[in-house]
Amino acid sequence: MPAIDLRSDTVTRPTPAMREAMARAEVGDDVYREDPTVNALEEQVAALCGKEAALFVPSGTLSNQIALILHTRRGDEVIIGEGAHCAWYESGAGAALAGVQFAVAGRGGLFSAAEMKAACKPEAYYYPRTSLVVLENTHNRSGGRCWPPALVDEVTRAARAAGLALHLDGARLWNASEAQNRTPAELCTPFDTVSVCFSKGLGAPVGSALLGPLPLIREALRLRKMLGGGMRQVGMLAAAAIYALNHHRTRLGEDHRNARAFAEIVAQAPGVVLDPLGVETNIVNVQVPTLDAQQVVLEALKSGVLLNATSPHTLRAVFHLDVSAEQAREAATRLASAIAQLEGGA
Ligand SMILES: *Cc1c(COP(=O)(O)O)cnc(C)c1O
Repeated sequence: MPAIDLRSDTVTRPTPAMREAMARAEVGDDVYREDPTVNALEEQVAALCGKEAALFVPSGTLSNQIALILHTRRGDEVIIGEGAHCAWYESGAGAALAGVQFAVAGRGGLFSAAEMKAACKPEAYYYPRTSLVVLENTHNRSGGRCWPPALVDEVTRAARAAGLALHLDGARLWNASEAQNRTPAELCTPFDTVSVCFSKGLGAPVGSALLGPLPLIREALRLRKMLGGGMRQVGMLAAAAIYALNHHRTRLGEDHRNARAFAEIVAQAPGVVLDPLGVETNIVNVQVPTLDAQQVVLEALKSGVLLNATSPHTLRAVFHLDVSAEQAREAATRLASAIAQLEGGA
């Protein structure tokens, strides 16, 4: 039984055509800004997202951290949604590198203008200064949820009115764009800076970009070097990202359909709490309130299905380029049996 890897959409391998594009890439020293392929990628992704400039960086963590440093001073507070990547999965970099602390608005990752305001500190010298709001679209920990455009509008207007800067963690902006039938530029418009990833559902091996106005991106270039993210003949990686933008962006709907089909099957398993209609993009959170999620992971592994436990009673399955419709259904059937097995033994 070949393994089906649903741990993350980062596990994809470059396709033969992507590798060819990488092999053909023209390169130069990108610290001197002389890599033509990196420059082409930056121009292309900035135009696609309707921003003035872009900077290619090794990871989404680095682009988020550069954004935090750009928009804040040490000791500032940053408003985030519950479970935000920049607070959960970046090794504490917000505190260690940017010197900020986080305040969580609302529940479940998305929040309203009122919840944002409630999370902001009043103005007094003894409070931290609230300077930045970060939205995550799609929202990873809540199961790939998209921000409804009306909610983005409400929150970003309120943030502007309060004089706060706005950063979008758009690691999966491409999925939101596909699911909501909105262009990336439409989704990026309200934000000062946006971070996008090429290494998630798009299937490139490495890389993210930070997007924004030219003066900020010039400053970001200095910060990228300072943080050790300056790279040299990296056109090969930029070529993979260009290939991914051109060939893998328009197929993301397949991943969304596979996620939904998977959810419909798993939802039938005993004890599972899962609403397939709540699956908006390529991530499925499976709640197993009566089981230990880690035990389910081990049981599923025996049948060749790889998943992550993201909380004591939550499993996460992520769909991507390297999972076919057939494999999605097969994985669901195997996971449902693993759950039934454990439920029976409980
Ligand atoms: C994956 C991800 C990132 C970036 O992660 P890296 O592994 O550092 O590239 C940022 N934000 C979200 C929401 C993500 O899912």
